[in-house]
Amino acid sequence: MGEGRRHHRVPRCKRCGQPAVIFMRQHRLALCETHYQEWFVNYTQRTIEKYHMFRPEHRILVAVSGGKDSLALWDVLTQLGYKADGLYIGLGIDEGTRYSELSLEAIRGFMAERPGLRLNIVDMKESYGETIPELARRTRRGRGKPCSVCGLSKRHIMNEVALREGYDVLATGHNLDDEAAVLFQNTLHWQTGYLARQSPVLEATHPGLVRKVKPFCRFYEREVAAYAIVRGIEYQYDECPFSVGATTIYYKELLNRLERQSPGSKFQFYTQFLNAKKKGLITFHEPEGEVVLRPCRICGQPTTAGEICAFCRMWVRPDMDPEEAKKVVPTLKLRVETS
Ligand code: SF4
Ligand code: ZN
Ligand code: ZN
Repeated sequence: MGEGRRHHRVPRCKRCGQPAVIFMRQHRLALCETHYQEWFVNYTQRTIEKYHMFRPEHRILVAVSGGKDSLALWDVLTQLGYKADGLYIGLGIDEGTRYSELSLEAIRGFMAERPGLRLNIVDMKESYGETIPELARRTRRGRGKPCSVCGLSKRHIMNEVALREGYDVLATGHNLDDEAAVLFQNTLHWQTGYLARQSPVLEATHPGLVRKVKPFCRFYEREVAAYAIVRGIEYQYDECPFSVGATTIYYKELLNRLERQSPGSKFQFYTQFLNAKKKGLITFHEPEGEVVLRPCRICGQPTTAGEICAFCRMWVRPDMDPEEAKKVVPTLKLRVETS
């Protein structure tokens, strides 16, 4: 046997033969730094088209947290020539890690290298008088962890900014690892309502709701990280200090074990689910009686929670008269920064 065969072969780029920086088993594709960037951008465009996410004339609001996924998404959409503005929500999370401060710094650094970008900023403390941890401590929703209050506030604010500022669609940086973990969790518990709705595109089922899309849903997390690195994007590496012990992290770890045993299984699990749903091979129905959406009496956003939405209920007490109730919910203040 020749000497050479015993050496580990360095994967070569399929396009140009240079040493590859990444090998993607599910696509049987190895690529060098240059061709990986090109492929990543084109594959995003293919995902946008495959799921009819948006077209060049649409105005897109990208939810940016300062992490790799959202900054990479903003970078790709801009490269593809889309009209994409950012939205940053200052959560006021510090906990000794300066998490929120460093997030905004990362976004500003990203923008400084890309002239012509526009960032909408909503700061929790500035708009609502309380940071997320403070809101969580005051309201009973918190129960020690601010994630429920945080998720609720982010959904509310993203929707309000998108509609108020006339955006056609809200884009988030969710990747395949995120989507597969949610799918796994929902399947284990047969959450049929969630399974019915899990999709790369969430249509606006009410005029008060913005359409939501996930253009990175077919990329592994490591692929997005590799893209951010080869593009020199300096993102916020640290996760939110409250994410420790989150259930999705547990499901991600389980899926990672599966992936190590059987590479490509995460991709298969998620994409085959979408394909089967699209072909009508599996169907889920919303429970009888359908979910009824009514506008919240205070803010007007559609809610299933009755007269007042869960967000406004963080300020409104049940014994308040309607006029008083309207006054206690603070209004959102929007700042804009451009580069
Ligand atoms: Fe909010 Fe942090 Fe919880 Fe995520 S982990 S929902 S950012 S508090
Ligand atoms: Zn190459
Ligand atoms: Zn409301």
